[in-house]
Amino acid sequence: MKILIRLFLGITALLLCIVIISRAGQDETTKKRPAQPQRDYPVKPVPFTAVHLNDKFWAPRIEINRTVTIPFAFQKCEENGRIENFNRAAAALKGELKDKKLPPYPFDDSDLYKVIEGAAYTLSVHPDPKLEAYVDGLIEKIAAAQEKDGYLYPARTINPEKPHPWAGAARWELEKVDSHELYDLGHLYEAAIAYYQATGKRSLLEIALKTADLLDKTFGPGKQSIWPGHEITEMGLARLYRATGDERYLKLAKFLLDARGPDGAKGSGRIYNQSHLKVVDQTEAVGHAVRATYLYSGMADVAALTGDLSYINAIDKIWENVTSAKLYITGGIGASGSGEAFGANYELPNMTAYNETCAAIGNDYWNHRLFLLHADARYIDVMERTLYNGLISGVSLDGKLFFYPNPLESNGQHQRSPWFGVACCPGNITRFLASVPGYVYAQQGDKLYVNLFAASTADIKLDNGRRVKLVQETRYPWDGGVKMTVDPDRSGAFTVNVRIPGWARNEAAPGGLYRFIDRVDDAVTLKVNGSGIPLNIEKGYASINRTWKRGDVIELALPMPIRRVIANELVEADRGRVALQRGPIVYCAEWPDNPQGHVRNLMLADNAKLTAEFKPGLLGSVTVIRGNAVALAYDQHNKVIKSEQEFTAIPYYAWANRGPGEMIVWIPTNEAAARPLPRPTVASMSKVTVSGGRNPRAINDQAEPKSSEDASNTYFHWWPRKGTTEWVDYTFEKSAAVSEVEVYWFDDTGHGECRAPRSWRILYKDGDQWKAVENREAYGVEKDRYNKISFKPVTTSALRLEVTLQPNWSAGIQEWKVK
Ligand SMILES: [Zn+2]
Repeated sequence: MKILIRLFLGITALLLCIVIISRAGQDETTKKRPAQPQRDYPVKPVPFTAVHLNDKFWAPRIEINRTVTIPFAFQKCEENGRIENFNRAAAALKGELKDKKLPPYPFDDSDLYKVIEGAAYTLSVHPDPKLEAYVDGLIEKIAAAQEKDGYLYPARTINPEKPHPWAGAARWELEKVDSHELYDLGHLYEAAIAYYQATGKRSLLEIALKTADLLDKTFGPGKQSIWPGHEITEMGLARLYRATGDERYLKLAKFLLDARGPDGAKGSGRIYNQSHLKVVDQTEAVGHAVRATYLYSGMADVAALTGDLSYINAIDKIWENVTSAKLYITGGIGASGSGEAFGANYELPNMTAYNETCAAIGNDYWNHRLFLLHADARYIDVMERTLYNGLISGVSLDGKLFFYPNPLESNGQHQRSPWFGVACCPGNITRFLASVPGYVYAQQGDKLYVNLFAASTADIKLDNGRRVKLVQETRYPWDGGVKMTVDPDRSGAFTVNVRIPGWARNEAAPGGLYRFIDRVDDAVTLKVNGSGIPLNIEKGYASINRTWKRGDVIELALPMPIRRVIANELVEADRGRVALQRGPIVYCAEWPDNPQGHVRNLMLADNAKLTAEFKPGLLGSVTVIRGNAVALAYDQHNKVIKSEQEFTAIPYYAWANRGPGEMIVWIPTNEAAARPLPRPTVASMSKVTVSGGRNPRAINDQAEPKSSEDASNTYFHWWPRKGTTEWVDYTFEKSAAVSEVEVYWFDDTGHGECRAPRSWRILYKDGDQWKAVENREAYGVEKDRYNKISFKPVTTSALRLEVTLQPNWSAGIQEWKVK
């Protein structure tokens, strides 16, 4: 009822606005009630406002998102100047700004827009006058920062004479490179429509429309050409078209897609932002992974709205590429930290997996859209895998700490952070989690699709006008039993398509990149009113077409044995290893649950018996996997010692909630792949301090590099510092006599800016002073090997490795050993 009242108020507000507001250059169509687009996705999602989750998995998360994460993210936006940026731009417009300090990044606005979008979704289902008043206040600040002609971009408005260096001297000049002017607007559109639909207030929508009208005046056939350096504007404009019925926005979205590609202008023709080819000619997922998924989602939207098959052909091929060669078992994508990008085919390293949280979210946006286009459950299989694993791993259980990358193995160097300098991920989490109920159902004509399983009630309106109340009772994802009560408003024939997940049909993941080690023939069963019905699975759905009446009950049983997953042999990082999965949940072994706090030295035999056990209270109540594993360690003679020990695995998404330590998803199954625990050394026991740089733990982690460029383990680096003199100190546990060191340099010639250094030397601590050791050999700077020097023995409490970087190059260290 509240929703109805809101809708009524919304319509009233809209009508009032139409009477009161007269915008220059406004197209007639925007004044009308939005017409349904002539054409759209053949399948339509049941909106999140119509699905009420009351389960123990999602509902608590969505509540934490509402009560903790969203207020926390707003607070961080306040603290980090993301709101002040708008105030400063407003003051600049009035000529009242003295200090012209610019935002650190020109895309800082987008973080605020994303949290507003998240807040809008929660307001749609959970009215909160205080939150709404707060957002209204933010919108006033955003409005005040908008220039007269609609341009909205504090990074320039604050100081037009000397704008942000990424922004360029003139508007849009560096859009194809780094300015993110259009990117910010894309997120503004998403937020504006969400807020309008939630509250009926047009305040943010009017700001958005003013910017979109400026874009329409500036760009298009016969006008200037442009495409967004960071995609999302296309999705935003498509949504703006749906909300207003104004075709100019759809045409502009299509124009931005078609204009993308190499044209000789600065910033174009780069793989990094998918401008290396015309979008319709792209067949492989490349470049920055978040940009890519937003591009593919925008292509799906415009294809759905225009019927342009060439976009669909392209994203279908790209999807085949991702699922056959570039998708992690967790559903994460974007393997490489360098450029936050997709790697080569089968390049899926675990410890250095980048897997940005935003890319997982983008992957779900994209796969959901592909489902809406093709009505095929394989896209939901990918979406579900990402959702339960590599996406929600991005936020801590308490809702206040975030992962930017989501690696599949850790030596303890990865920790969640409350915020980031580039803070795209937390805001994306807020908007995605708030809208999760919108991914449960979809409908087309007289067909109702059940895509996700979660205890819930839903009020679904089918295209044919029929209303169906659907109640799900289930303990999913911990149990595969799902009872669905179907309550149509009147008896009649329609089809309920129940998704039978690939993992329940012996398919580990679509695309063939992963497979189960064994076949399990525990049958999936489906009953209607207690009678079994045959499973005729088509496109991943068991179709039940019958005359439904009130109180009919569907019972689905999805057996959830523990499954061992292996990867395609071409994935080098997973060779000789197995991952564990139960239902949709991918598991990892983490340090707190396993003896001695080590898991990277474990080996799990293929025939080791594993059992599942539900642990109420652990990590928010999870099912763990238990069994026995073999731990490997080197003894003093460098011989490998094996010992059997208890083994526990937890859901991957729940790791890193109990402090830093070891974690592993892909567990070795044989000795060749195993990594025996090295014996402690003077170096490994030392406290590492550095002059700067990243990953100091990598310097003494005893991970043996394969080469200087080896990125499969972690390495330490000083990038972006170049040409400087830097240092690393080892402070020993107690004074030790030492006479030899070996250093393995990190050097990423060909991809990055680290080189072996110009020179280095070793100093030892004598009282309060650092003194150079008397070395017997020259200090080597060779790549792909240890550079060893011996020196006159010293007894000391600490050693310093002093490194002078090559001019114009940075440097890094794979490992530093001491004897
Ligand atoms: Zn991000």
